[in-house]
Amino acid sequence: MSDNVLIIGAGQAGAQTAIFLRQNHFTGSITVIGDEAYVPYERPPLSKGFLAGDVEIERMSMRPPSFYADKGIDLRLKTAVLHIDRVQKTIGLANGEVLSYGKLVLATGGRVRRMISPGTELPGVHYLRNVDDVLGFRDRLTAGARVVIVGGGYIGLEVAAVAVKRGCKVTVLEMMPLVLNRVVAPEMSRFYEKVHRDAGVDVRTSETVSGFEGKGRLARVRCSDGTAIDADLAVIGIGIVPNVELAVEAGLPVDNGIVVDECARTNDPDIYAAGDCTNHPSRVSGERLRLESVPNALGQGKAAALAIVGAPVPYDEVPWFWSDQYDLKLQMAGISKPGDQVVIRGVVDARKFSACYLRDGVFVACQAVNMAKDFLQSKKLISHRVRPDPSLLADANTPLQAFLPDAAGG
Ligand SMILES: Cc1cc2nc3c(=O)[nH]c(=O)nc-3n(C[C@H](O)[C@H](O)[C@H](O)COP(=O)(O)OP(=O)(O)OC[C@H]3O[C@@H](n4cnc5c(N)ncnc54)[C@H](O)[C@@H]3O)c2cc1C
Repeated sequence: MSDNVLIIGAGQAGAQTAIFLRQNHFTGSITVIGDEAYVPYERPPLSKGFLAGDVEIERMSMRPPSFYADKGIDLRLKTAVLHIDRVQKTIGLANGEVLSYGKLVLATGGRVRRMISPGTELPGVHYLRNVDDVLGFRDRLTAGARVVIVGGGYIGLEVAAVAVKRGCKVTVLEMMPLVLNRVVAPEMSRFYEKVHRDAGVDVRTSETVSGFEGKGRLARVRCSDGTAIDADLAVIGIGIVPNVELAVEAGLPVDNGIVVDECARTNDPDIYAAGDCTNHPSRVSGERLRLESVPNALGQGKAAALAIVGAPVPYDEVPWFWSDQYDLKLQMAGISKPGDQVVIRGVVDARKFSACYLRDGVFVACQAVNMAKDFLQSKKLISHRVRPDPSLLADANTPLQAFLPDAAGG
């Protein structure tokens, strides 16, 4: 077992790797290096409770600051890593320091995808990835403020829900014909669109933004069809790109994420990677995936730690994710794709239903709105590649676990 682990990135994957290393009796030195100013924290509240002002930053911390010192984890914040030297087994920091590693973990996450449009640099135009981003605009979500959200994905819609609840006049601009277009069935997209419209959000689909205008500050958002929407604030949420530059420069395989195996190992025996920045093989999905979710960051962090202590256990969890908007808890398991057969269980208008996805007859994904049981049970169906009868599946009175083979269900 190597006695010196360096972890690049003090996000959820990086911190969790360090925590799991100690939980698994790793006694060597652990250094976690992150370029943000905050002890590792959970990002989901950024577009939910923290944005709304209901959750304090301390409550988002994965562990209190004292935890790291108590566990002998050297946490270096506000420190960027610029370079990896795989021959010398060192990394170079922005402050000029060079640190040696026995094992190295890349947990560099992702950064927001930037729009290439005129006016994005205007004050009033924002992105959302970290605490400082939220602090940069949260106070401007006041009653009557005109807020334009570019991108009708989860983060955009969560921001819309918070903003409209605060009395803002909110417009969501989505270039695709449906919100949440890439990730959910049209039935689910239309449901969320209606929920937002009913709450007072102006949802405009098939609308492309051409630029941001204003003299010295954002005044309006211009669309490709010439429409102008007056705006005090714009929040752009059009996805992220993985931070893979260090890996690329170091010559590690990268293909939409740092390529790792099921134990978070790269092709360098001393380098591991975990979280949003990775591309890993998923047994359940039967393909390689780059996921952007907390469970994935934690699961891969655990896999990396176990591999480092010499007790590798493959990361083999059914992918899952959640989104909170208004009083709706959307919980998703598995990965749906366009073309999957969709079976709706429950009553959409009652805001309690789930969309189940079958691919070639196999249950591959479930998205449950206020249906926690379906969500939980669906993971087993996905894992066991169950082939339910679609007409029976549509009956919400039949629990999903009834479709499991006896041995698995018991
Ligand atoms: C607003 C928002 C809401 C979300 N909501 C949900 C949700 O509801 N459910 C869910 O499952 N997931 C959600 N996610 C996604 C989830 O937060 C991420 O998947 C998770 O944080 C990934 O963790 P990570 O450690 O891989 O990456 P990150 O959290 O991105 O952490 C990586 C860290 O490494 C740092 N770093 C990068 N390069 C360097 C370098 N060279 N030197 C030093 N430091 C570096 C970065 O600045 C960052 O601090 C949300 C994300 C956001 C932004």
